Amino acid sequence: MEILGTKELMEQVRDKGLCVSCGACVEICPYHKSYKGKIALVFDCDMTPCQCYAYCPQTETDRDLLSRTMFGTMDKGEALGQYRSIIAAKAGSKIKSNRFQNGGTVSALFTHALDSGLIDAAVLTGQNDDLPEPMLIENACDVASCATTKYMATPTLAAVHKAIRDGRKNLGVAGTACQVKALATIKANPLGKAEQENSIGLSLGLFCTWSLDTRKFSAFLAGETGGEKIVSMDVPPPPAETFKIKTENEEREFPLKEIRKMIPRGCACCPDMTAEWADVSVGAYEGKPGWNTLIIRSEKGEQWVEEAIADDYLVRDEFPRSRLEHLTLGADNKRKKAEEFLTKEKK
Ligand SMILES: Cc1cc2nc3c(=O)[nH]c(=O)nc-3n(C[C@H](O)[C@H](O)[C@H](O)COP(=O)(O)OP(=O)(O)OC[C@H]3O[C@@H](n4cnc5c(N)ncnc54)[C@H](O)[C@@H]3O)c2cc1C
Repeated sequence: MEILGTKELMEQVRDKGLCVSCGACVEICPYHKSYKGKIALVFDCDMTPCQCYAYCPQTETDRDLLSRTMFGTMDKGEALGQYRSIIAAKAGSKIKSNRFQNGGTVSALFTHALDSGLIDAAVLTGQNDDLPEPMLIENACDVASCATTKYMATPTLAAVHKAIRDGRKNLGVAGTACQVKALATIKANPLGKAEQENSIGLSLGLFCTWSLDTRKFSAFLAGETGGEKIVSMDVPPPPAETFKIKTENEEREFPLKEIRKMIPRGCACCPDMTAEWADVSVGAYEGKPGWNTLIIRSEKGEQWVEEAIADDYLVRDEFPRSRLEHLTLGADNKRKKAEEFLTKEKK
């Protein structure tokens, strides 16, 4: 697959409103800048091939390259992506915090990875003035500060590039489907950049149906909460059709149809509900509050989870067949919707 440049990135992605602000094109050159959830080209660039085009999750995907890089095999095209096993999981007794989005599996896995030296540092997404902010975490005790889901597009990959530029190796990264796809491409290193070698140690993908436009949603939050600090937000499972926002003083529910109006256009062409290009993927466990669904995909991911369970960072339970069918159906639906969107887009 041909790797093109910034001009083509603009034509194929940004000018069509398909950018998801993941940050994969930021901090690798002086031209692309991220500011409060939007990414803009500040100077023209006619070079080719370019890293920005190569890593963007919205340009054409070389599925076999990603599959070989992450799993050592050719792509199998399955709805849930490749995996070794799926379990229910939640934070174990070694984790002292209890403020998580669901079961705290993400926080538990990164706490373990830093404590045990599996990774040298982690790039996670925290919060600053109610805006999501990527953070470089070096100490296990700081992982909990990034817990809970910020339903907003975040330039997490910009922080990954910056860390790599600063000479970091063996990073652990948590991100949504688009972000871990970009991460797998960085790991594949299609342009043979010396600094990318061994830069990514472990990747954790978050299930994702959609994210929200950061500017629109933060303006909405400011209007509705009067600037009160947001403690958490959540999309309760169907048939609720609501979006919950908890501030320090109150909990409010909004109709999901109002919130969906703030989904960026780029999310519509994402076929991936379970973040298939990661070492492990984590989502909510519908019907079992306080637990996560954990998909173990790569050999490295399997070792990570096994060690975290053995060292009491993580607790596991069975994931029944009925849940697997439900999860597959959801993933398949997202894929079909994305195909329909792309077919319309090409007409
Ligand atoms: C935009 C978005 C949409 C999601 N949609 C779904 C869904 O449809 N179905 C589902 O089952 N799960 C979804 N998830 C995942 C779910 O909300 C939880 O993150 C997941 O179940 C892990 O729970 P936990 O208790 O282990 O997480 P915690 O231990 O609380 O850790 C959460 C981690 O998420 C990361 N994070 C938070 N916000 C962002 C962000 N904006 N971008 C990147 N990383 C972030 C942080 O680094 C943090 O470490 C979504 C997550 C995001 C970010």
